[in-house]
Amino acid sequence: MPTVESSDSDVQQNPSSTLPLLGDNQVTMQASTSSSSNNSSSAGNSSMSSSVGGGVVGVPLDTQNSGEPPAKRQLLDPNSASSSSGGGAAAASGTNEKLAYRISTALCCAVCLDLPKTAMYQCQMGHLMCAACFTHLLADGRLRDQIATCPNCRVEISKSTASRNLAVEKAASELPSECQYCNNEFPYKSLERHEQHECQERPTKCRYHRIGCQWRGPYHETTEHERNCLHPQKSGRDVMAALVAHDDMFKEEMKMFHTLIDLLSYEKIIFNDLQMKPYRTDEYVHKLFYETARFSAFNQQWVVKARINNSQRDPHQSNERTITYQLILKTKTSTPMSIHFFALKGPFSDMKVNTQIYKHDFTEASTESDYYVLPLPNGTDGNGSSECNRMLANKGINFRLLMFLLNK
Ligand SMILES: [Zn+2]
Ligand SMILES: [Zn+2]
Ligand SMILES: [Zn+2]
Ligand SMILES: [Zn+2]
Repeated sequence: MPTVESSDSDVQQNPSSTLPLLGDNQVTMQASTSSSSNNSSSAGNSSMSSSVGGGVVGVPLDTQNSGEPPAKRQLLDPNSASSSSGGGAAAASGTNEKLAYRISTALCCAVCLDLPKTAMYQCQMGHLMCAACFTHLLADGRLRDQIATCPNCRVEISKSTASRNLAVEKAASELPSECQYCNNEFPYKSLERHEQHECQERPTKCRYHRIGCQWRGPYHETTEHERNCLHPQKSGRDVMAALVAHDDMFKEEMKMFHTLIDLLSYEKIIFNDLQMKPYRTDEYVHKLFYETARFSAFNQQWVVKARINNSQRDPHQSNERTITYQLILKTKTSTPMSIHFFALKGPFSDMKVNTQIYKHDFTEASTESDYYVLPLPNGTDGNGSSECNRMLANKGINFRLLMFLLNK
C-alpha cells in the first residue's frame, strides 16, 4: 500500500470550505487499480483511498460557500424564464420557478450543495450525498483509518449502510435545465436529446462539409444555406484538398487509437477519479487556478493543477477560453518515471472532453509536466470555449486521470 505522508508541512486548511467536517477538505476519491500490488494491471479492483491536500499555494475561492444550487442561477435569470410555451404564462412561471428552486434546494447534496445529475445516496437518517461526495467521504475515512460518517448527523456510512435514493434522482431529472443554444428550459432528462436533435439553434454543419464547405450555423438556417451552397458544383480536383485533409484527420485518430491500445498493454496502469477545486494565487493580481488534492499512484504522491488561458495576463484579450493542466510529482523519487497520462470524463462528471495523450519523464530534477491542453469539444463558438465556461461555472471539475508507467 502506498503510504500517505501525514506530516505535510504545507497542508493548507481551507477556511471557507463547506466541508469542515472532513478536516483537510481536500478529499480525493481514488479508484485505482489494485493498490495492494503495484504490479497488477487489473482494473477490476476499485479500491478507494484519498489523500490529504497539500501544496496548495493560494487562497481558496469562496465559491463553495454560496450554497446556491446551480438551478438558482438559471431560475433567477429572467432571460431563461419558461420554455417554448412563450410568454402567456408569465405569472404562473414565476411561481413555478420559485417552486423549482425550493425543490432543487431540498434535493441538493448536503456536502457540496450542488444538484449533480449522478446517483444520490443517503445515510440512515436520510441526509443526501451525491455519488462524488459519498465516494470522497468513504475514501477519506479509509485514508484516516476511521469509520466514514455522515457530515450532518455523524451516523456511520458505508456502501452497505447507505442507500441510493431513486426518488431524489428522478425528481432532480425533472427539474428545469437550460439549453445552451436556445436558452429555453427543459427537464434535465430530456435536455441532451433536445440539444442534439431538436433544438433549432443547435450548431450544424453544411451537409457538404466533407467536400470542403466550412459553413457552420444554427440548424434553422441550414436549408437556406444548403440551397445556395456552391460546393456541390465544384470539380473533383477542387474537392481533392478537402478529402486529403479528411484522410489526415482520420490517420491522426488511428494513430491515437493505436497508442491507446499500446498503453493498455502496459504492466502498470492506474486511474484516479479526481476533483479540481478553484483557488486564486496570492500574487498582487490574483490569478485563478485549479488544483486537486494529493492522490497516490505507483507508490508516489501526485497533484494535478490546471489554469485558464495559460494564466494569460489579460483574459479580456480574447473570448477564447482554454484549460491547460499539468501533472506534478509531489514525492521524491530517485528512479526516473516515464508516465503517459490523459484526462477523461470519469463517472461523476458531465464534462465533455476529447482524448489526447500526454507524456512526461519524471525525474528528481523534473517533477512537473508541461501544461497541456484539456481538449474540449467545439461548441457554437467553433472552439472549446463554451464547454470551458460551462465547467468553470461548476463548483469543481470532476474528471478521471489515467496514468501509464512504462517499465524500463
Ligand atoms: Zn456532493
Ligand atoms: Zn446523516
Ligand atoms: Zn435549445
Ligand atoms: Zn455549404
